[in-house]
Amino acid sequence: MITRAEALAMDNADQLAQKAAEFILPEGVIYLDGNSLGVMPKAAIVRVKHAVEVEWGQDLITSWNKHGWFQAPLKMGDKIARLIGAEPGSVVVADSISINVFKVLSAALAKNPTRKVILSDTGNFPSDLYVAQGLAQFMNDGHVLRAVAPEQVLNAIGDDVAVVMITEVDYRSAQRHDMKAITSKAHAHGALVICDLAHSAGAVPGLLMDADIDFAIGCTYKYLNGGPGSPAFVFVHPRLQNETMPALVGWWGHAKPFAFEGQFTGAAGITKYQCGTQPILSMQALDAALDVWADVDMDVVYAKAQKQCAMFTELAEARCGRHGIKLFGSRDFSKRGSHVCLEHEQSYAVMQALISRKLIGDFRAPNLMRFGFTPLYVSYTDVYDAVEILADVLDNRIWDNPKFLAQNAVT
Ligand SMILES: *Cc1c(COP(=O)(O)O)cnc(C)c1O
Repeated sequence: MITRAEALAMDNADQLAQKAAEFILPEGVIYLDGNSLGVMPKAAIVRVKHAVEVEWGQDLITSWNKHGWFQAPLKMGDKIARLIGAEPGSVVVADSISINVFKVLSAALAKNPTRKVILSDTGNFPSDLYVAQGLAQFMNDGHVLRAVAPEQVLNAIGDDVAVVMITEVDYRSAQRHDMKAITSKAHAHGALVICDLAHSAGAVPGLLMDADIDFAIGCTYKYLNGGPGSPAFVFVHPRLQNETMPALVGWWGHAKPFAFEGQFTGAAGITKYQCGTQPILSMQALDAALDVWADVDMDVVYAKAQKQCAMFTELAEARCGRHGIKLFGSRDFSKRGSHVCLEHEQSYAVMQALISRKLIGDFRAPNLMRFGFTPLYVSYTDVYDAVEILADVLDNRIWDNPKFLAQNAVT
């Protein structure tokens, strides 16, 4: 088993180690929840302060031109494109994932009008499924959502499927769907593919163009560190941008927004996939967060995350296996994203106890403790120390306390 001295040696040899200095990391905290809310980049403070004091405070409405507010969603889209394997001009920052699911799903269904089935899997994030259910019901013409078990997706692709809608990295099992295989079979059967990159962007190497994916959506507050509620992004393959029309459009997607015409004419390219005015202050924090990624190689990030996930799992099983700790999902770390879920029957209380010890992860129903590994600011010694804390909480039943058993609204 790895020792703390060995973990320290790995940190000393880690080419990403100096990146942690670009973030605010609260003293004494081991933060393994960057898969849910990334930590704050130091540059975000400066950028937001400037946006509030100078751009909004002094320059007011002239800032739309003077400080590039209006173009910001497309410029940030290009910064994200590099990380997710897309081309410049094919990504725009806008709205939330849930809203963007509605946009791309409605566009895909309209593009494939003779088919009625939206194929997804039961492990998908519920909000994506809810949007699909709502849209199918609203269309009221026989469209249905068919959610099969995650391992059944490939088999379930047939000639009745209009759209395959899959989250590449499962938010609980961390399983990475084989998007190349899914897309190739879907295309062979005349179906379009929507890929949710919520747990991929900033975690795993980008694959959109390489896998020939039609549409993608993702958020920026998880691995990309854009801040709470920072706007999401949407990708449309260049071959489909001018050939598709989302059901949700607005003046920011108009070809001539300041002509104020009564009729909607979509702008060329990805621009049409924005709707209305965007949260400019939030976007300043996101833009600063994206600049942190400018010199980062996603292959290096993913390789480190895989090592950290494997190290954490092996140490946790060795140190805590007798308490019934078990890895949830596949053991093949090359087919996983960058978080690890451990099963334990008292997961909620154990997680609360860990948080009280400044080891922060989260709880996912029904019995999972989830730990995210974000290589830009998590070190190998953090991983080692996290397992020491977990072992202490379990060995000494620190979780067995009424204050850790009462459930909060956000878990
Ligand atoms: C986090 C997450 C979301 C969140 O959607 P919002 O609309 O941004 O709240 C959606 N889908 C997946 C797969 C997620 O992991």
